[in-house]
Amino acid sequence: MVGGAGGAWAWTEREDRVAAEQAATQERAADALEAQARDADVLQAQAADAAAVHAATVRADARATLAAAAEHARATLAATQDGVADDAVRQSLAAVLAEADAALAATDPAAATGTTGARSATGLRAVTAALAAADAAVGAAHDAWLQAEAAAAAAAAAERPTPKPAAEPAAGAAAPSCETTYNGPPFYTSPATSGGDGSNGKLPPEALTAISWDVDPHGTPYYLTNAAAAALERLNSGFRARFGHSLDLDLTYRDYDTQVAMRAALGSIAATPGTSSHGTGLALDVPELPCEYGWDTPQRDWLVSNGPAYGWVSPSWAGRSGSNPEYWHFEYRG
Ligand SMILES: [Zn+2]
Repeated sequence: MVGGAGGAWAWTEREDRVAAEQAATQERAADALEAQARDADVLQAQAADAAAVHAATVRADARATLAAAAEHARATLAATQDGVADDAVRQSLAAVLAEADAALAATDPAAATGTTGARSATGLRAVTAALAAADAAVGAAHDAWLQAEAAAAAAAAAERPTPKPAAEPAAGAAAPSCETTYNGPPFYTSPATSGGDGSNGKLPPEALTAISWDVDPHGTPYYLTNAAAAALERLNSGFRARFGHSLDLDLTYRDYDTQVAMRAALGSIAATPGTSSHGTGLALDVPELPCEYGWDTPQRDWLVSNGPAYGWVSPSWAGRSGSNPEYWHFEYRG
């Protein structure tokens, strides 16, 4: 302590200043806390908004996946009618499909909401999983049914007496034969799929080339992939040199929609849409009848012997002792 009254005055002034500074500091701290609280509220509101948008997106995705699964299940049900040993497995699928349809209706963004009870993304995924499992079970039952049918048909064929050929074949040669079980509606070759994504049955125009010497009865060119068409042109030159006319065609490329129609009309005989070799642009069928290309005909024998040199083969499954004998079917293997 130095000085007298002057020193006391200075002390008081300093105390006041310190007190004022403390008050200002406290006020700033209070302001800062308030600002932080405001920021936290804003962030919380933003997070809540983002979470709501994210949840809506996730649920829309889950809904779209369920819609696709439902569409597939409906197609499975249509394709397997009278095509399973025990229809209970199809009825289970139909029940889950009804549940899926209800969930889709309840979460339809275009429909009125609030009364039907919204379903969560987790709920939609659970229905999707149940639907996929039931769908697969029907597929397996259908496959088993097909195998049983094929076995029964083979057993019946084995018991049937061999019909006598109309004309005696030349000595040492087998009689040509063209047995076909197909009696469904006619299906024709398809044009390219405009804007197609290149997947099975969705080949765009630039992926395909029309063969040069023929069109189908509807006037649709016979399309194959560019390489397969070029190879078939060369094969046809050889065929024409041997037989005096161009190779006859019945079908080459078949698009997805036609395969769907075929499957609906024929059931198991037609390949599952999206799996047919004709959807790849790498397969052709020659006419099943008249029997120019049947088993043991010179034409088919020539194609089987000479085709591979051009990259065209008769797949083993289509052979006479194959799993699905089709004397008319050939594939380009490059
Ligand atoms: Zn074929």
